[in-house]
Amino acid sequence: MGNFMLDLSGKHAFVTGIANNRSIAWGIAQQLHRAGAEIGVSYLPDDKGRFEKKVRELTEPLHPTLVLPGDVQDDAQVDALFNTVKEKWGKLDILIHCLAFADKSGLTGNYTDIPKEAFSQAMEISTYSLGRLARGAKPLMTNGGSIITLTYFGGVKVIPNYNLMGVAKAGLEMTVRYLAAELGPQNIRVNGISAGPIRTLASSAVGGILDMIHNVEEVAPLKRTVTQTEVGNTAAFLASDLSSGITGQIIYVDSGYEIMGMYN
Ligand code: NAD
Repeated sequence: MGNFMLDLSGKHAFVTGIANNRSIAWGIAQQLHRAGAEIGVSYLPDDKGRFEKKVRELTEPLHPTLVLPGDVQDDAQVDALFNTVKEKWGKLDILIHCLAFADKSGLTGNYTDIPKEAFSQAMEISTYSLGRLARGAKPLMTNGGSIITLTYFGGVKVIPNYNLMGVAKAGLEMTVRYLAAELGPQNIRVNGISAGPIRTLASSAVGGILDMIHNVEEVAPLKRTVTQTEVGNTAAFLASDLSSGITGQIIYVDSGYEIMGMYN
């Protein structure tokens, strides 16, 4: 039957991708916490420990019971992360994949100029990592689970400058479907949220992000772009029993931009 309220109490939610207070992952972590989930977070380690410090300070109000390094390019680190989740939590209910990276050469100019190294790196970090994290989560989601990733319309239609990340997001959205098919028998659901453009560290690397936001303000039915909190609310819904029949889907949280055919 499930619970009719959006109640995540007793659930363990691990959130990747918090870099700062603008991060979409931060909006998600806050709403999962509000709904009662116990929170764990990862950060991308750097030599000076800046991201770790930032993430620890920022997330303190949520009392995360796990704060772990989680560079998805580092297999040993990903294994260690899930080993710690197993040791400390015993099980995992919710996994948020909210990270991506592409070199600047892939986010502006001509698609035909994208170097092979930039392509491989973007695919590894932004696309392959979803399956990699799902591999770690699978044996820990013993009561079923919900895996949620973040995608963008530029993976479905051509958006100026989104270039390489568009191809990575197309791969990511297909990964959602293959994972949903594989993990469904274990009652693990896998969905993507396609968010409208929001100013963040990652999006500022995309040429013309402000133009993208202005276009949404003109064209989208709601005449504004979305907030990290709105994305967080949809993530809380997808993480909860209220969405128990939904898997393999991409849900647009984009003020309705995606439905528009002709812009006036
Ligand atoms: P952000 O810069 O706050 O988050 C990106 C995160 O990716 C950072 O926390 C960074 O540390 C992490 N990351 C990069 N390389 C990593 C690696 N090797 N291992 C682990 N983590 C790594 O920006 P954001 O906009 O909040 O991005 C979060 C997600 O939302 C991304 O998948 C992005 O494509 C997606 N998204 C963003 C928008 C937008 O307009 N901002 C729209 C739709 C989808």
